[in-house]
Amino acid sequence: MILTKRKVLCQELLDEIRAQAAPAYKHGKVADYIPELSRMSPEYFSLSCQCIHGEAVETGDTSRRFTMQSISKVLSLSFALERLGARVVFKYMGTEPSADSFNSLMRLEIASPKPSNPFMNAGAIAICALLYKEYGDSAFDELASYAGGIIGAVPTYDERVCESEKATADRNRSLAYFMKSVGTLRGDVSCFLDLYFKQCSITCTTLELAKIGALFASGGRLASNGERYIKEKTAHTVLGLMTTCGLYNGSGEFAVRVGVPGKSGVGGGILAAVPGRMGAAVFSPPLDSKGNSVAGMNALEALSDELDFRNTRDE
Ligand code: GLU
Repeated sequence: MILTKRKVLCQELLDEIRAQAAPAYKHGKVADYIPELSRMSPEYFSLSCQCIHGEAVETGDTSRRFTMQSISKVLSLSFALERLGARVVFKYMGTEPSADSFNSLMRLEIASPKPSNPFMNAGAIAICALLYKEYGDSAFDELASYAGGIIGAVPTYDERVCESEKATADRNRSLAYFMKSVGTLRGDVSCFLDLYFKQCSITCTTLELAKIGALFASGGRLASNGERYIKEKTAHTVLGLMTTCGLYNGSGEFAVRVGVPGKSGVGGGILAAVPGRMGAAVFSPPLDSKGNSVAGMNALEALSDELDFRNTRDE
């Protein structure tokens, strides 16, 4: 969808994209396999852009908080890479995309007991196991404090969503206990799962997500003051995995339509990182069959077209 010939980032552009993209929420369905998520109005929509040098522009229900769900996996992965190192992390999981859905069990049994990547639920639970091993019961606070350094305030999690997921997480429990049974995980699996449910329930606005996107887009610097926060190598590793695995079995479609690294969550958020330029985040709860926000994907596609995220047009 190209709205006009070419634009610069400004309020008018984002308002225009919202008007065009938001109505597509009607073609999706709000997640209800975590019952508490289904209480979110399908009509909410917000879109925020955070440039790596500080400017921010946003539109829609920008004060609406929602749960990060799988978008939190970029935080836990980058935190684990910083604190434990890539060698430790990738001993327990791979870096390859998988054509399976986010909570697939199949590959663990038929291909390898190591999760294919850190963004599949199995990989993210394995990251939680590593963080729990390092920090014990304070792992969530350590992760939240790391996130707070990026977004400017230590985030909290939504207890109702967390409890709701915990009560219905048979699938994630299966993944965790299966990994324990084959020796990929060791220890008290219920503690790893609790950490996973809490991290998925961290609440955010799209501007906060856009700040996280800007961190990776800048190679590891904070948009607020330009200070280095994580190693460039960590940012590059996360960006690579977002490109190939960030939207699960919808990653190819996102690459074609939007063309930059992204990460989605079943709460309806999508985070995009535009290297060297900005973080962009969108929120619209109704999802497509692969668990990605329908209107969110449309909005990011329009933004990419308008702002030339792929940077291939002649000057
Ligand atoms: N908490 C969700 C789950 O584990 C996250 C899934 C997602 O956002 O893709 O099922």
